[in-house]
Order: sequence, then structure tokens, then C-alpha cells
Amino acid sequence: MEVSICENYIRYYFWKERAIMQIMANRMDRGFQLYQNEYESKLLEVLRSGWYVLGKEVSSFEQEFADYLGVKHCVGLASGLDALWIAFRILGIGVGDEVIVQANTYIASVMGITINGAMPVFVEPDVFFNLDTAHLEEKITNRTKAILVVHLYGQASNMESVMKIAKKYHLKVVEDCAQSHGAVFGNKKTGTFGDIGCFSFYPSKNLGGFGDGGAIVTNNVDIAEEVRIFRNYGSEKKYYNKVVGANSRLDEIQAAFLRVKLKHLEELQEERKTICERYLKELENKQIILPQILKGASHVWHQFVIMCKERGKLIEYLNSKQIGTAIHYPIPPHMSEAYQYLGIQKGSLPVTEMYADRVLSIPLYNGMRKEEQDYVIESLNLFSN
Ligand SMILES: *Cc1c(COP(=O)(O)O)cnc(C)c1O
Repeated sequence: MEVSICENYIRYYFWKERAIMQIMANRMDRGFQLYQNEYESKLLEVLRSGWYVLGKEVSSFEQEFADYLGVKHCVGLASGLDALWIAFRILGIGVGDEVIVQANTYIASVMGITINGAMPVFVEPDVFFNLDTAHLEEKITNRTKAILVVHLYGQASNMESVMKIAKKYHLKVVEDCAQSHGAVFGNKKTGTFGDIGCFSFYPSKNLGGFGDGGAIVTNNVDIAEEVRIFRNYGSEKKYYNKVVGANSRLDEIQAAFLRVKLKHLEELQEERKTICERYLKELENKQIILPQILKGASHVWHQFVIMCKERGKLIEYLNSKQIGTAIHYPIPPHMSEAYQYLGIQKGSLPVTEMYADRVLSIPLYNGMRKEEQDYVIESLNLFSN
């Protein structure tokens, strides 16, 4: 008798969960739950160590992340934005200089340039949502000092073309890898092609901590040393300050969490890949355009970004099914209030503006259950307006 009551309860609960299945665009709690015990014991270990800033967790993480990428040096910082602006500062790029960047990026990429007083010069994206290298050369002037390549949504950009053009015009190359941890072009990981690679470990990133964090990677020992000094008030030796620096240190607790996650990064990436391969194979709706992958590039699926002309209706429909979505990004940097001073008119970057009106990121996160994936696929395939 008791057994059957229990069974009924379970059935009811499952039915209820199915009926009200609510799926968020992203869920970071699921990622935490995957290795909960390891994160919790690491946290206690650091708390009990009595050492909280620039200690062995940070230096071990720097070494492990550099090894993972196949690059000589990694310097942990406080955020991805810090990595970007410090990169341009160290390269000596500022007032009077121009930096070419793709126009459909997250605004932090552009802030990394303008914080230093340099001018961003926007280039349109290609069909892969990355910098269109066919339009790169026409943007180069005698003020151009660098190209900032953003490997958007997790897909590596065409680094062969970028490096060829950079070499021809003697330009620096900075890579914004905030969304592309581990993505490969040819046989090298993103962040290892240019002069400096910039990473973010914000919680939602593929390699994300439980707070803010970032890093600069480079094969150049002098750059690595300068960044190491810069992040700590410009001092190598305590109270001996060489330059006016910043306080941009990755802290021990975040570094410790990131070491745990880095150990599992391959399996986490595999899980995202499996989900996205299902999406690519099973999503079938004439009103939805699926993402494409460049030959020679790999995609680590930070986001699964579809396009839809009737995006507003699609969002409304998915909301009615309790499925969350996100837009990356609704306002391109050149049209945001912050960059009105650049004086770039609406309509001057038509591909970027069209993407901003049509892109939609559908639910994707580590720990996403099969029935959640089924429900997203089923619902998207049934959409019509
Ligand atoms: C997240 C992100 C950044 C900024 O990283 P923070 O750690 O949030 O400062 C920069 N560029 C891109 C492309 C990003 O996605």
C-alpha cells in the first residue's frame, strides 16, 4: 500500500515537471552541481590557508592554463575588460591610434580600446559572426596600430587571413577570447596567434569562475613581465613602484575554482558540443537560420545563436512555452549611448545592424537535461507566425 502511494507521488511530480517545464537561457547552478564537492572542498582549503591574494592557486592556475593553451605565459587579472585595456596599454596604443575591431562584438571589446584613448574602427562580420577578413584591409590607415579579433560565440576566427594582413602592415594583433576558451583554428588554440590573448572567467563563460576574473596570455616574456607588474600597482617589489599601474589581480579563491573547472574543461566542452550537434541536426524550421562553422575552425559553443526575421514573435512564442532566450547583442557598440561621440550613423554598418535585429541565443548550459533539449527542439520546430 505504502509503495503504491509513493509511486503515485513520483508520477504526479514528473507529470507536473513536464507540464511546467521551465527552461532558462542559461543556468550556472547546474554547472556548479556537476562538481559541487570539488568546488566546496577547494573553497575550504583556500579559506583555511590564510593566503587570499596572489598565492599558489593563482600561480598554479597560470601555469596550467598556459599549458592547456600551448602558450608560454599567462597572467591572471581581475576581469576580461581589464585584460583588454591592459593589453593595449602595454602595447603602447592610445591617443591618435586606431584599432580595427568587428562591429558586432560585446561592448567590452571596444571599451578595451577606448579606455586608452584610441579609436575603434569597425569592420562588418562575416556569415560566421566573426570579423570579415575580406573587408579588413580597406579599414587600414596610417594610424592603424592593431587588430582586435573577437572569437565570437565560441568560434575561432580565420586567423590565417588576420595574421597575413597584420604581418603585411606591421600591425599588432590582440585576441579577445572571452568566449572562446579552447577553440582552435588550424592546429592552434585561440589566444596564441597574436601578440596578446585576452580571457574572461566571468561565471557564464565556458571557463567561468564564481565571480569576476580574467587573464592575459602571450609568448612574449617582456609583455608577460610588464603585465605582471602592472596588475599590482606597477610594483615588482613591494612599495617600489616602477609605473602607474592598476589593481587587477585574480584572487586565490577564483583561481582555485578555475583550476577545478579547467581539469574538467574537456568534458564540459564535449557536453556543449553534443547538445549543439543535436540542435544542428534536429532543428528544422524554415524561419530559423542555424549557425555555420568555418572550415579549419572549431567552435566551443559559448552560445548557440540562431537568426530569425520575426525574432520578436519567436521570443514571445518561446516565452509562452516557458523557454528563455537571450540576445547577444541587441545594440551594437556604435549605436549605444556610450559611443555616440564617435558620430557613427545608424545604417553605416548594415550587416552588424541586421544581426542585432535577428540574432537569438537559445538555451545552452552544462548540465542541460536531455528532456530539456527535446523540449527546446520540439518547440522551435513547431514555431510558425
Ligand atoms: C565577457 C566578455 C568580455 C568582458 O569580460 P569581463 O570579465 O566581463 O570583463 C569581453 N569581451 C567579450 C567578447 C566578452 O564576451
